[in-house]
Amino acid sequence: MQIFTTIPGLRTFLADYRHDRSIALVPTMGALHKGHASLIRRAVAEAEITVVSIFVNPLQFAPTEDFSRYPRSLDSDRQLCASLGVAAIFAPSAETLGIGDSEDITAVIPPISLTSGLCGAFRPGHFQGVATIVTRLFNIIAPTIAYFGEKDAQQLAIIRQLVRDLNLAIEIRACATVRETSGLAVSSRNQYLSTAEREKATIIVKSLQLALESFHLGERQREKLLAIVQKNLDRVPEFRCQYLDLVHPQSLQPIEQIETDGLLAIAGLIGQTRLIDNIILRQRRAVIAIDGPAGAGKSTVTRLVAEKLGLTYLDTGAMYRAVTWLVVNSGLDLSAEAAIAELLSLAKIAIIPADSPENVTIVKINEQDVTLEIRSPAITAQVSRIAAQKAVRQQLVTLQREMGMSGGIVVEGRDIGTNVFPEAELKIFLTATPEERARRRLKDLEAQGNGGISLAELTQEIEKRDYLDSNRSLAPLRKAADAIEVNTDHLSIAEVTEKIIALYRQGEENQWRSL
Ligand code: AMP
Repeated sequence: MQIFTTIPGLRTFLADYRHDRSIALVPTMGALHKGHASLIRRAVAEAEITVVSIFVNPLQFAPTEDFSRYPRSLDSDRQLCASLGVAAIFAPSAETLGIGDSEDITAVIPPISLTSGLCGAFRPGHFQGVATIVTRLFNIIAPTIAYFGEKDAQQLAIIRQLVRDLNLAIEIRACATVRETSGLAVSSRNQYLSTAEREKATIIVKSLQLALESFHLGERQREKLLAIVQKNLDRVPEFRCQYLDLVHPQSLQPIEQIETDGLLAIAGLIGQTRLIDNIILRQRRAVIAIDGPAGAGKSTVTRLVAEKLGLTYLDTGAMYRAVTWLVVNSGLDLSAEAAIAELLSLAKIAIIPADSPENVTIVKINEQDVTLEIRSPAITAQVSRIAAQKAVRQQLVTLQREMGMSGGIVVEGRDIGTNVFPEAELKIFLTATPEERARRRLKDLEAQGNGGISLAELTQEIEKRDYLDSNRSLAPLRKAADAIEVNTDHLSIAEVTEKIIALYRQGEENQWRSL
């Protein structure tokens, strides 16, 4: 792991790596704890290289706040990052970031609608300071993905909007809040709390938990949910609440009733220490992501799981076939990537999943039904060339995410849990040893009357394919940090399906994302 304090140093280091690979950024203010570690772990698992920035940003502290006493621990931060597989730490000075001694800088001002409520009302200028520095880090590092904690929900919503508004090619990924065993959200500022204060501080999470339970019992009204939380907070008068609100997680505007999801957020003081916490109240059916190497039985198992659980099988293959059909029919050269990207952007692709296992996914392009045509040998022969194009992949991933937004889907691939649906409620990594996959393949080939290849040769072929799949620049095969590995070596298809269904039920019982 390398440490850089200058922009030329870091940029030169990254230039060697860049070539189409994914670069993750985890922006932090240091004093790293297990909350940061969970962001870093995910970044390391999901991207090819991870940069952690450590910068205590003076722009986001008001003069009355704790800038000078904010904890700093570069040595232990460095050790933690190295142990987690971080490629580089970027620890610039304020001068390096161009905010030395002057307020005369180009600032990034997020929309007032996002900054006027919640913490913004108590910390004027805070989010402008965050947005200004995060934009600089984004421009210096040019990451492909950046990780932020859900604990700072307002910050997360603001950064998402910033990326959209400034057309940055960066994907923002949110990570669940990491908590102490007591439930208290881990924070660098927890070090300021005495043992007694730490105990008192748990009233925040306990109150959020009550709201969650009430939500799962069907409560959707603002007034009722806030009253439950307020009543509980009142039990600990040492907690001086600054705000308690129920807002929309993206617009941050107060909501009267939860339709799809709501963000219940709390901030306040215990002694001199300011604490924040929140919870997303959302009820949706799960997204199940099934990844794994070729030949592990993914597609059969995925269809069966969808059928048995009454979920929708999202046929991503049909999407790539649809684009291939579009390109072939437009007469474009299959290697004209820019023209294809433009064509696809202007096209209207509708994927209507099958409502029963016997049916096929219906595909329409610009209102024309191409369900059957996309299965023709001519399309089958070309689809891998189209699927290898970055812009096609990006646009189809966006479509897949839109289709998965309200949950209730099962999807299989190589990077579904790490890239397409990193927030999936259940992630399975379905695998089998190369020898076992070779045995299965040989059996299939012999059944088709195509024997004549040895088991050793097939095993070698499969190992080679695994290597290529894991090292390709576009959508490499990767196991998500929170995926459950299911080795199918000694299991039948029915047993594998049952196992996944059992994991789903278990998650359902735990309400997926309870505190
Ligand atoms: P900070 O160093 O406080 O600016 O935090 C850096 C990043 O870590 C931010 O994206 C925070 O939201 C995230 N973070 C801080 N605490 C936690 C936590 N307990 N769980 C998850 N993420 C966290």
